[in-house]
Amino acid sequence: MREKSDQPVPIDAAPPDGGSPGLLFGLDAEGLAAVLAGEGEASWRGKQIAEAMYSQYVTEVSSITTLSLELRRRLAEKGWQVGRPRIANTFQSCDGTERYLVECRPGDPSTVETVWMPEGDGGEAGDADNDTKDWSRATICVSSQVGCAVNCQFCLTAKLGLPAAGNLTPRGIAGQVVAVLDRHSVRVGRDRVNLVFMGMGEPFLNYDNFMAAVRLLVREVGLSPQRMTVSTSGVVPGIERFASEPADLRPKLAISLNAPNDQIRAEIMPINRKWPIAAVVDAVRRIRLRPHERITFEYVLLAGVTDQPEHAREVARLVRRTGLPAKVNLIAWNPGPGIPYTMPEPAAVAAFQGALIADGVPAYIRQPRGRDIFAACGQLKRTTEA
Ligand code: SF4
Repeated sequence: MREKSDQPVPIDAAPPDGGSPGLLFGLDAEGLAAVLAGEGEASWRGKQIAEAMYSQYVTEVSSITTLSLELRRRLAEKGWQVGRPRIANTFQSCDGTERYLVECRPGDPSTVETVWMPEGDGGEAGDADNDTKDWSRATICVSSQVGCAVNCQFCLTAKLGLPAAGNLTPRGIAGQVVAVLDRHSVRVGRDRVNLVFMGMGEPFLNYDNFMAAVRLLVREVGLSPQRMTVSTSGVVPGIERFASEPADLRPKLAISLNAPNDQIRAEIMPINRKWPIAAVVDAVRRIRLRPHERITFEYVLLAGVTDQPEHAREVARLVRRTGLPAKVNLIAWNPGPGIPYTMPEPAAVAAFQGALIADGVPAYIRQPRGRDIFAACGQLKRTTEA
């Protein structure tokens, strides 16, 4: 078995070299203490910088008022910057959803997409439990790669492929979250925010950076891993590593199932040829679930392909046979240019849910959020139009 990846957040920016800046965002308090030690300062000052960047959402060294003016000047002169990822463009949906293009590194114009869904989408705990329309129950959908190599046939992100250097660093992943928390003045601890790592990319093909970002978000930002869900297309080695993560750092797991059997799944998700459903389920069984925790099976309904009554019966059998405490989140496929599928009829989606429930499998329908701005599930493709 591999070792748990409970290690310090890696430094993903070199110290300033006189030409390029050193970036503080993405370092944990320990990493920041090391930077401060290099300046001859006490290590506890690292905690002050962490608090400023991750709780007060400070984006300039000059604004970290817990540091002396002289120290702030000195850090800036040496080339240290906060360097938090920046929201470069915002698209607003009529349903309150916002989609962002986020620049992860200063001076690098390549972007990833992040989505803010006030009131969630019905797929996470607390979603739609919103008598007051209060966004204090919101969900942020986070990207882990600048594209994706998995090539699910129904997904627009797959069209991008995965460029070289397509893996986001802990700064790039956690920075999306903090930039959005800042935009909406979220106070962690007061407001209820869910994170879903279901944006661009396959998190388990960028495992070390993904888990380093989770540790940063838990330990420095103060978010609960029980309010985070990571979705995988079924990368078995990643699930096996995930099973050995400590419970106080491990998000919940969602498996992107999307088909009732291996034959259909291999057609729409080529990754199934490498890791078929049984192998994925075997790996999931190694996870020691917390009390009341359930595994989520995400299921995209494609009209005529995966939304038929016999498919629902097969999915119910499959989920029951796993023996796992589980629920199914149903997602009516969202259209995208160049993708050869059709949206299911609302009646077919409702019937599918009814059949699962009748067979004893909890099933929820995730509401499409931000379809008008290409923010909905499977639509993320760094589109610059709304
Ligand atoms: S659905 Fe997820 S894993 Fe599949 S291609 Fe799209 S981003 Fe990648």
